[in-house]
Amino acid sequence: FMYPQPSLYPVSFNMGGKIPLALKPKGLRIVVTGGAGFVGSHLVDRLIARGDSVIVVDNFFTGNKDNVMHHFGNPRFELIRHDVVEPLLLEVDQIYHLACPASPVHYKFNPSHKTNVVGTLNMLGLAKRVGARFLLTSTSEVYGDPLQHPQVETYWGNVNPIGVRSCYDEGKRTAETLTMDYHRGAGVEVRIARIFNTYGPRMCIDDGRVVSNFVAQALRKEPLTVYGDGKQTRSFQYVSDLVEGLMRLMEGEHVGPFNLGNPGEFTMLELAQVVQETIDPNAKIEFKPNTEDDPHKRKPDITKAKELLGWKPKVPLRKGLPMMVSDFRQRIFGDQKNPTA
Ligand code: NAD
Ligand code: UDP
Ligand code: UDP
Repeated sequence: FMYPQPSLYPVSFNMGGKIPLALKPKGLRIVVTGGAGFVGSHLVDRLIARGDSVIVVDNFFTGNKDNVMHHFGNPRFELIRHDVVEPLLLEVDQIYHLACPASPVHYKFNPSHKTNVVGTLNMLGLAKRVGARFLLTSTSEVYGDPLQHPQVETYWGNVNPIGVRSCYDEGKRTAETLTMDYHRGAGVEVRIARIFNTYGPRMCIDDGRVVSNFVAQALRKEPLTVYGDGKQTRSFQYVSDLVEGLMRLMEGEHVGPFNLGNPGEFTMLELAQVVQETIDPNAKIEFKPNTEDDPHKRKPDITKAKELLGWKPKVPLRKGLPMMVSDFRQRIFGDQKNPTA
């Protein structure tokens, strides 16, 4: 389908079917904020492969040029070093807004509230000015330490407003509010995804999230650090499933919010076991004190995404983990030490 944004295109483009094919833009012009990060870089790969022109906006706080370097030299790819808390002028059709540190270790060190609030406001201002469609990557953290299980989109959550995690979860809640305000007040076309724990290749190795920690620890022959009693649960989604869901959401007709996650639920001890099976059956487990306000359980109800987006995850943990492990092995040891990696 085509976006009705006359002012953005050369006059000839608005003549629809009458213009010669060669004059029509080939794909969409898309901004991916946070596109040098883990999820963003996989999304960029899919968009470039589809034929779109992609502008990545990233300040490299947790992202890395290596994640997108394979697109350097492609005329349909641009990389801008920019912090989204500063205004930005661009002409685009779609905005995937991912910029935000996603790991507790990072967002506690550098509170993400300003990025979530001011950064999201700027990208919504941009969407409003150019008539672009805007997709927010929100999070399952908006449900806090949930009193409903599994979590449905209609659940309002249980969040501590002054806790150590609140810069992230309250930040994303505010970002959702801003998104809906611009939708209702300014008519901006918006989409909201609530993403559940996602893993895969290109995750930041030392960012402190549980899957990347366990995989790196097992590969380095260090004990797997289980926080608390290890009975808390999470549901882990492979990154390609998430990217498919984000693109379906953007292209579809529904605002959301939509839960995007894999309903396969694991305790942290079970996850440690899967990592042992995949990497090293002799890997030891070391218990450490848990962090403050850690949600006890988390599992998405994805009925809405199934019905309205025709989406469901395809890659179970035991299939996805090995693909992440080969990427981590290569990045931790390099090709030389592990020629088979
Ligand atoms: P990531 O840390 O790998 O990627 C975030 C990217 O945003 C990085 O490249 C970082 O440099 C960039 N960034 C951070 N602050 C910025 C700023 N102020 N200006 C410009 N760029 C900035 O994390 P990810 O896992 O790829 O997460 C992407 C998005 O998905 C985030 O919005 C996150 O909240 C959301 N999300 C992720 C998960 C998950 O499990 N991976 C779960 C829920 C939500
Ligand atoms: N903004 C931006 N790029 C644009 C348009 C707006 O970064 O192309 C920023 C702008 O600087 C402002 C925010 O988005 O801080 C919200 O813009 P909006 O026009 O909605 O609000 P206003 O500027 O009227 O407060
Ligand atoms: N966790 C753990 N060991 C680690 C890192 C995290 O047991 O080395 C636990 C953490 O306490 C939480 C769960 O794993 O209960 C998921 O943590 P993560 O930081 O990956 O994501 P989030 O808490 O944002 O879901």
